[in-house]
Amino acid sequence: MLKYHVWTIGCQMNKADSERLESALEQMGFASAQSPDDASVIVLNSCVVRQKSEDKVVGMLNALKPLKAQDPERVVALMGCMVGPKADELQRRFPYVDVFMRPQQYQPLIDLLGGRYGIETEGCLRQLTAKPQVSTFIPIIHGCDKFCTFCIIPYRRGRQRSVPIEDVVAEAEALVRRGVREITLLGQTVDAYGSDLPGNPDLADLLEAVNGVDGLLRIRFLTSHPSDMSDRIIKAVADLDKVCENINLPFQAGDDAILESMRRGYTNKDYRRLIEKIRGTVPNVSISTDVIVGFCGETEAQFQESVKLIKDLRFDKVHVAAYSPREGTIAWRSVEDDVPLQEKKRRLRVVEDTQEKIGAEINAGYLGRVEDVLIDSVKDGVASGRNRNDRLVYLSVLRQALRTGGVRTNPNQGGGQDERSEDRLGEMVKVRIEKTGPWSLQGTIVL
Ligand code: SF4
Repeated sequence: MLKYHVWTIGCQMNKADSERLESALEQMGFASAQSPDDASVIVLNSCVVRQKSEDKVVGMLNALKPLKAQDPERVVALMGCMVGPKADELQRRFPYVDVFMRPQQYQPLIDLLGGRYGIETEGCLRQLTAKPQVSTFIPIIHGCDKFCTFCIIPYRRGRQRSVPIEDVVAEAEALVRRGVREITLLGQTVDAYGSDLPGNPDLADLLEAVNGVDGLLRIRFLTSHPSDMSDRIIKAVADLDKVCENINLPFQAGDDAILESMRRGYTNKDYRRLIEKIRGTVPNVSISTDVIVGFCGETEAQFQESVKLIKDLRFDKVHVAAYSPREGTIAWRSVEDDVPLQEKKRRLRVVEDTQEKIGAEINAGYLGRVEDVLIDSVKDGVASGRNRNDRLVYLSVLRQALRTGGVRTNPNQGGGQDERSEDRLGEMVKVRIEKTGPWSLQGTIVL
């Protein structure tokens, strides 16, 4: 049987794109291979948001060269944000790559494989995966209209295109029929949803529609932009029972001059007010954020504004990145990348250390609490899942719980107990938290 291997790096949108391509390849009769060495078709789904990601993709491309030389029949494809409108330069650098595909442009590979192996490809991209994960993604917006000065995404994924509400609901229903229990609605600016659709529905309308899907237990959404986070969306998070109290809201910089130079469209004060409003409206909400350190011209005092914001607002999670210029962006064309690399790394560590302490303190507050956890992973007999606030929870004594009985809410799995922990995937269980750390919690299922 012919096998494929898809290697993915980058954001959740890339993961969702890879899932879709894998599903199409399986519809065509290919099987998944654990490693590229065993695959006849190798796809790299790339990310160039930062230099570090791009370097990893180049490393993988170089590693594939001898594999292709060993077996010239092997198909190598490069997909994702590394592929711009013109692939000539990439073709020159990596002549052994057979296909270059922009994000979500799967057809060139499908056509090549269909022709080479005589496979019927009609409709394979419209099929959803036969074995989706318990928790999966639905992209609801493609592209982005914001053009933040540091960001390459609008140049690679294009302008904002929202998926109509009825299509998202139909996909959610189909996924639930196949065992999915939690859906994350994805977009680069997910809270801008609908402004390009007839009638201008918004994310609150979409959340309400998806909340009505029978059998679905949880809904999340990623990534929001502070300028688009409306009162209606905040209220929807507070009111809709399946929408989890968890919002990712990047602030990117704490200093107003840097925010302006990034073209983010809000100030430090605006951001603080927004967080206050969200916390005042949604009880027990968790908020994660993204910040860039070492952006062009960022002084120590300006950097300290970011640290102060983190300390004052006490986020549940902080994703931090050192600025790296991306060719073609507004910042790359107009401002100098003048913060030395060593200094960027130092600032990165300051943020990480600050957040590690805050994360540990917040998580310590969960000790002894009973949390609803959706089991979404079982590895080597150890089950884990997430609470509504998106905290990773390891279930320390699943086997003991199996002997004494647990809370079984998955309608597809009946009421009987069994000894295979994999069968607990998709169950919502109540877990008493017994151990906490900065990045995760650990606990036991309670009856
Ligand atoms: S909002 Fe800004 S950072 Fe986010 S994808 Fe759009 S341009 Fe990039």
